[in-house]
Amino acid sequence: MSQFSFFQSVSNYFDNAAQHLKYPKGLLDQIKVPNNVLSLKFPVKIGSKIEIIEAYRVQHSHHKVPCKGGIRYAMGVNQDEVTALAALMTFKCAIVDVPFGGAKGGIRIEAKNYTDTQLQRITRRYTTELIKKNFIGPGIDVPAPDYGTGAKEMAWILDTYSTFNPNQIDAYGCVTGKPVALGGIRGRTEATGLGVFYGIREFCRLKDEMKALGLTTGVEGKTVVIQGFGNVGYWSAKFFHDAGAIVTGIAEYDGTVYNAKGLDIDALLKHVKATGSIKKFKGAKNLPSAEGLELECDILIPAAIENVIHKGNAKNVKAKIIGEAANGPITPDGEKILLKKKVVILPDTFLNAGGVTVSYFEWLKNLSHVRFGRMDKRFYENSTTLMLDTVERVTNKKVNQRDRKQIVKGADEVDLVYSGLEETMISAFHAIRDTHKRKKDITDLRTAAFVVSIDKIATSYLSLGIFP
Ligand code: NAD
Repeated sequence: MSQFSFFQSVSNYFDNAAQHLKYPKGLLDQIKVPNNVLSLKFPVKIGSKIEIIEAYRVQHSHHKVPCKGGIRYAMGVNQDEVTALAALMTFKCAIVDVPFGGAKGGIRIEAKNYTDTQLQRITRRYTTELIKKNFIGPGIDVPAPDYGTGAKEMAWILDTYSTFNPNQIDAYGCVTGKPVALGGIRGRTEATGLGVFYGIREFCRLKDEMKALGLTTGVEGKTVVIQGFGNVGYWSAKFFHDAGAIVTGIAEYDGTVYNAKGLDIDALLKHVKATGSIKKFKGAKNLPSAEGLELECDILIPAAIENVIHKGNAKNVKAKIIGEAANGPITPDGEKILLKKKVVILPDTFLNAGGVTVSYFEWLKNLSHVRFGRMDKRFYENSTTLMLDTVERVTNKKVNQRDRKQIVKGADEVDLVYSGLEETMISAFHAIRDTHKRKKDITDLRTAAFVVSIDKIATSYLSLGIFP
């Protein structure tokens, strides 16, 4: 385990990066500290007993509003963890140019020990507390899913918020990651995993970087191991598998499954749904959970929880690239060992920003009250059809039906979401890489990502004219 708390680790990363920038200490301190911390204890009736539930919401930065960040249900939730995750959200939003301050929420419960009715009661009471303290609203603070939560919990949050705010026309924008039928956006469920895929794919496209690692260019044929088979882990695995990578190992809290020839990701999901575990999957070897991180592979994707790669196991990691899909999966001590071994780490502040990016699109959709693509899809299809017809007539040549279909297809909401996400991840990656290349004394991509981010946040504050 690390000698630092999670928030101290994030602050250390911040301090390392801040040394490369010339901003006054007061301004840097303001960027680093959490702006608003809400610690809650509230009673909920569970069975015949009253349970006192511990929960938090931290708004790390108000340099832009609303604040934005997921809500986590886990026994590891505490104020330090939520503060660290909120801080990461601030830096993440800045990196991908999402105009929000960072926030995070957490409820200290083991979700699987509660029935749906009990979870609903806890979620609604938590939301009511946020409303009471003015900690939620489309212009104030907008939660989203995180570890242990999903569209179901977001629907309960929306329903509670709109019940207390019946006249608010933008109420749907109070939370993202909602079911599509309740103002959600197509593509949000898979957004974080897809962003992880786009980010790593972009890195793998670079010939010089791949050569330095002794790898070929592209993701096709690369071996991938993933820790965590929840939302982010499953979707990351699926996108890599579909792109021709070989996902050889998946680690869960109760074991690891391994097949050197590659695992069938959808069949594995079916197996997990049917049996409740990844263990005993047909054709795969069963290994202890911790061994997953130490498997031979090109790309390792921790997509479960923080602090899983540390001083004790970093030396055993064999991957050449680590993509941080989870928040804070590597401790600072672990990172030192990995960097010495020349492992390339694509940092969480960049790599898992797909979720918040598409949440931003969902929030925009809620405020504009119109589905993306609705206004121009048919217009585009009609005008490109007319153009192709004209070209065919003038040239006396026919475009084949398959090409015609592709050319004239107008964009649906999900096409636009994927395209916006791809653009965001690729641009952010190159901004970080350019900083890394330009500043010779920056030795890793995490520091470069923090530099990019602090620079943008500092510019916002300086525009206020209150810092010298
Ligand atoms: P999830 O609850 O859907 O899945 C997490 C999975 O990890 C579960 O299947 C759980 O059993 C497994 N797990 C827990 N501890 C483990 C361990 N020690 N070893 C192996 N597996 C373990 O959560 P998620 O939404 O996929 O989030 C995963 C990580 O990604 C978290 O760090 C979260 O903060 C981060 N993240 C999530 C999103 C999002 O949109 N959901 C966005 C950005 C970052």
